Amino acid sequence: MSAARPRIAILGMAIESSAYAAHRADYRDFSPLVGAEVVDRYPFLAAGTPLGDAAEWIGVFYARSIPGGRVRAEVYADFRERMLSGLRDLVTDGPLDGIYLDIHGAMSVVGMDDAEGDLLTGIRSVVGPDPVIASPMDLHGNVSETLALGVELLTCYRMAPHEDAWDTRERAARNLVDWVGRDDRPRRAWVRVPILLPGEKTSTRVEPARRLYGAIPEHEALPGVTDASIWIGYAWADEPRCHATVLVSGDDEGVIVRAAETLAADLWDAREEFDFVGPPGSLDEGIDRALAHRNAGGGKPYLISDSGDNPGAGGTGDVTWTLARLLEMPTLTADDGPLTYVASIFDATAIAELFALSLGDAVDVTAGARVDSRVSGPVRIRGILHSLHEGDPDAGRIAVVRVGGLRVIVTEFRKAYHATADFTAIGLDPLLADIVVTKIGYLEPTLYDVAQGWTLALTPGPVDQDLLRLGHERIARPMFPFDAFPERPDLTARVL
Ligand SMILES: [Zn+2]
Repeated sequence: MSAARPRIAILGMAIESSAYAAHRADYRDFSPLVGAEVVDRYPFLAAGTPLGDAAEWIGVFYARSIPGGRVRAEVYADFRERMLSGLRDLVTDGPLDGIYLDIHGAMSVVGMDDAEGDLLTGIRSVVGPDPVIASPMDLHGNVSETLALGVELLTCYRMAPHEDAWDTRERAARNLVDWVGRDDRPRRAWVRVPILLPGEKTSTRVEPARRLYGAIPEHEALPGVTDASIWIGYAWADEPRCHATVLVSGDDEGVIVRAAETLAADLWDAREEFDFVGPPGSLDEGIDRALAHRNAGGGKPYLISDSGDNPGAGGTGDVTWTLARLLEMPTLTADDGPLTYVASIFDATAIAELFALSLGDAVDVTAGARVDSRVSGPVRIRGILHSLHEGDPDAGRIAVVRVGGLRVIVTEFRKAYHATADFTAIGLDPLLADIVVTKIGYLEPTLYDVAQGWTLALTPGPVDQDLLRLGHERIARPMFPFDAFPERPDLTARVL
């Protein structure tokens, strides 16, 4: 460690990839930051803040995408090389004390297992074993053995939805600053827990995740503990690393082992308690409940999650299964039908056709399933052109087509409609809608706040909530809930 402020490099790549999505994440899906832009991403590292002044933070490269399918191999290879060449330049100027590796943990790359482990291996090949590495992760990320061995300070979110994402990133930076100044290295107690569940059953808004995550601070407050974390893991990939993980870091081996084994045992013992965060049902049941809610004078809007193609979990975003069924429901397509927003299908070809029309023109367009046609084909939309919008940084051009009471949103590129602002930006106020159907799982905060009723519709698609329907072949077995456990699994912590 140098006498001056410690030198810490910041880099990373983050996406959550469903292996069951036909989408492939390409350059357009990422918005890379380089150099000082990377540091500027973190408000808690600004000059004049305690953490910002505690080290020389050096931005290298950071690329993030909303969740999607596997990353194209050439895109990953290019980004990886940009990170590694940036590190090579840095180490020629002098040793690095730390690396802040900002990852999600559920990235899949075409033709590769454990993409984050591969990235880490590349980083260590450049910087060697000396720099302490800290990684903030998503609790839906996976912790492979490579990652657990190579990153001394792993941590993850403690809330789902991830309202504590920035707190987590700040905690990782604080822990890293604490440790780069010491002569020894953090030890870790690591427990692999053979549970694999969808995020919609493990929201911290409800039990048992609420109390499991709620117990973390008391363990972390113990002398000798730096960080305690629980990863639920990512269920829509099919790799040996997909499972829950408990990891506690610190400098008192006895304390971190006890904390990790307690958290792991509590997680295992709660496994049968995990259930959907919202009232689940089929799409038809969701519509029936929404209509009953309306007829009973219930408030607006009633939310329906089209969970099987939630881009926020890795869904492709052009699966037509739900839209096709809604267009076949006479109650919804009647001119006096309930006002129902349907978000969304992306289809650049359909958008080109729609933008050739004028508002009020008759529409007859085929859309969706250009990328992901596994569960349904392109859908024919016949209605009236309601509105056109340009300039959305994610969606590109957007068209809204009116089919009776339905307002069908078609975008040029992938976009997740997860906030009320996404709708109001195109003139569709959720507070005026009887029903809002959107590709989402558990409701993100602004939609959660306005929902007057809700069904988590268990629709088919790349992020199907019915995991057993997907056909995993490569996860480690036995695994709850895929297998029976006549004996309690070994939940002994491994000390790294
Ligand atoms: Zn997540």
